[in-house]
Amino acid sequence: MGSIALVFGYGRRVKYSVNVLVGAIEQELGDTVNVFVTPLRTVPELLVNLVEEYGRGRVIYGQTLITPELPKVINDVIKAVIAARKVGAIPVAGGPHATGDPYGTLLSLGFEYVFMGDSEESFTRFLKEIIEGGDPKSVRPGLAYIEEEEFVITGKGRVRDLDRFPAFALKHRLFNPIEITRGCPHACKYCQVSYAFGVMYRHRSVDNIIHNIELMVSNGIRDLRFITPNALGYGAQSNVRDLSKVAELLRRLQKFRAGGSRVFFGAFPSEVRPEFVDKEATLLLKKSVDNRRVIVGAQSGSNRMLEELHRGHTVEDVTNAVVHLRKAGFDVDVDYIFGLPKETEDDVRETLKHITELIKLGARVHAHVFLPLPGTPYSFENPGRVRGGLRKELFKLLGKGAMYGQWEAQERLAASVARLRDLGVIIITRKRAQELISRFGGISVPLAPKILRHIKW
Ligand code: SF4
Repeated sequence: MGSIALVFGYGRRVKYSVNVLVGAIEQELGDTVNVFVTPLRTVPELLVNLVEEYGRGRVIYGQTLITPELPKVINDVIKAVIAARKVGAIPVAGGPHATGDPYGTLLSLGFEYVFMGDSEESFTRFLKEIIEGGDPKSVRPGLAYIEEEEFVITGKGRVRDLDRFPAFALKHRLFNPIEITRGCPHACKYCQVSYAFGVMYRHRSVDNIIHNIELMVSNGIRDLRFITPNALGYGAQSNVRDLSKVAELLRRLQKFRAGGSRVFFGAFPSEVRPEFVDKEATLLLKKSVDNRRVIVGAQSGSNRMLEELHRGHTVEDVTNAVVHLRKAGFDVDVDYIFGLPKETEDDVRETLKHITELIKLGARVHAHVFLPLPGTPYSFENPGRVRGGLRKELFKLLGKGAMYGQWEAQERLAASVARLRDLGVIIITRKRAQELISRFGGISVPLAPKILRHIKW
């Protein structure tokens, strides 16, 4: 028995997941784990100091991995993993990227353990095993590791009841928007949410959300935001709309508004699905929220593509959503993805036509470019590229202020992700992993530096 140290590589894009895990550790393990959150670059030095203090095998380096950030951080991640292995700390990874690419995360990046799916339960049980000198490999489901040159993948962890864990880390004062729903029934082919976190909506209860908000407000947080794949789907059991829980939640949030807080719902960091928007929903939002802007997910203006993507709504649903939201006085941003796999010239034409209609209705377009994300049916597709005529049209829309977004940077990012994939650094199948092991002469992880030597960054 005794305490251990845990170092999280921290940053803007991973902080929400880390905060929730720190909250789970506070609740389950109290002071037996000393948690440090620090920028990724400072991890190696901190690990050296902590291993001196706590001893080998008593310090864990935890890294949440998200694919869109990986090309930027991969060198620092590998440095931290190598440092951890050298001094006797245990490098572990989780998050959507690690869940979608456990082989690459173990083999190329060199992590000793990967936590797949939800990790509040599996990770806290893993830490408990280490504290008590037990067997961390006994934790399942949710854990993946390499044993005797074989991959052991125990499936994805699932937290059935979101209320069981806090929404943030109160003791460490690491606050974030409250995750009110996890998982998504739609399984869109380009998106990791359903593949990593399941196809059932799991909702935090209204009572629990209110309790968490009371804690945030008493700690000086005024702006109340929510994380969910579909704000108007809160409380629904599947993809069938049921506004009763949304109405109850929004009603109970009003006392915080009366006390000076602001409620943002259906806006960053969440959005709404178009077929959930109608007159009743927009009137409800209008009287209950402080955001003037609502974000609607559309992704394509071609019904053929919407079907191919598995979106589960039509182009007409998007138009109706914009009409209703504009009538209620909201500004509207509509998300589109350009450069999608299987998209034809006709699909692109239809999308541009649809976008033009929406702009006339007063909407603004938020442009994204397709990224081949691990764990999704499109993980082996070509990276998104915005070609010739479409590129010209997008620049025109940008010039008019009718469109915004980091789509050019995303195009470069998509190409980098695909390059890492094609080189065998990420998005690896079991077969590919075995090939890499034989090519590079067995498992001496991480393999990535050997592979990356062939790349000019
Ligand atoms: S509806 Fe949204 S969260 Fe759900 S799978 Fe599709 S893109 Fe992902």
